[in-house]
Amino acid sequence: MTIKRSLAAFFALVSACAADRPLALSGWARNNPDWVESVEPFRVDGDIYYVGSRGLSSFLIVSREGHFLIDGGMPENAEMVADSVKALGYDIRDVKYLLNSHAHFDHSGGLAALKEMSGAIMVATKGDCSALEGGFYLGSESDHDFDAPPVKVDRVISDGETLTLGGVTLTAHLTPGHTRGCTTWTMTSGGKQVLFFCSATVANNRLVATKAAPAQYDGIVEAYKSTFAKAKAWRPDIFLANHPGFFDMGERLDRRKAGDADAFVNQTAFPAHLAKMEAAFEQSLAEQAATAESR
Ligand SMILES: [Zn+2]
Repeated sequence: MTIKRSLAAFFALVSACAADRPLALSGWARNNPDWVESVEPFRVDGDIYYVGSRGLSSFLIVSREGHFLIDGGMPENAEMVADSVKALGYDIRDVKYLLNSHAHFDHSGGLAALKEMSGAIMVATKGDCSALEGGFYLGSESDHDFDAPPVKVDRVISDGETLTLGGVTLTAHLTPGHTRGCTTWTMTSGGKQVLFFCSATVANNRLVATKAAPAQYDGIVEAYKSTFAKAKAWRPDIFLANHPGFFDMGERLDRRKAGDADAFVNQTAFPAHLAKMEAAFEQSLAEQAATAESR
């Protein structure tokens, strides 16, 4: 009885604390409040829904035989993503495949919790497996500010491989650079080509080895270049990405609300974004190479 009563008291205390105190925010989330700010989920096109935060995208793609979920945002975002799925009238337990654009904490951080909630199969490329399962940022393993909750990968997917649920097919495209296993996903929606781009920013990546540190990972420069060369031919009707700012989500949503049903359709948006990313990459490469030489 005593044990039972103290257990009951303990759980009462736990639930009271949980109700009163929000989850402690990481430094990243404090410095990037839009990353953890909830927004109303919405239909992008056909079976594709936005279930991310204001600053970090997550996409739900539904089918009659279960759903796909791309990206989990920060660890703090998992509950928010699940709530958005629910608000749209879907059940997180019907998510069958969990996908990830790339293994960086701001897009993979929520995956472990979302996998737990959904029981879904975690799918990733070989290049990003170690970082997802180890919970680290490849090449910055000792920087624990970059850690993410580790998530087990159940299925390794290669370039060009597809996943199908209830007539909806997603194709994986390896677009390495930003991470070693950066994955872009494509699908068709009502005859339109939809592209979920990984990322091609340089961000914190060391492109060039110095005496102080090796490059972020072997072959990183060639990886970026192969992605720019490959993606140049792509002209998706709908370009989506893991940061809403990349595809002007707010502006497009405003236009949609103002009556433009095709606000998310724009074949020049992706090539323009890619050109910008390539120019920024070349500039960073030149700067990093110059710094490395002067050391
Ligand atoms: Zn990243």
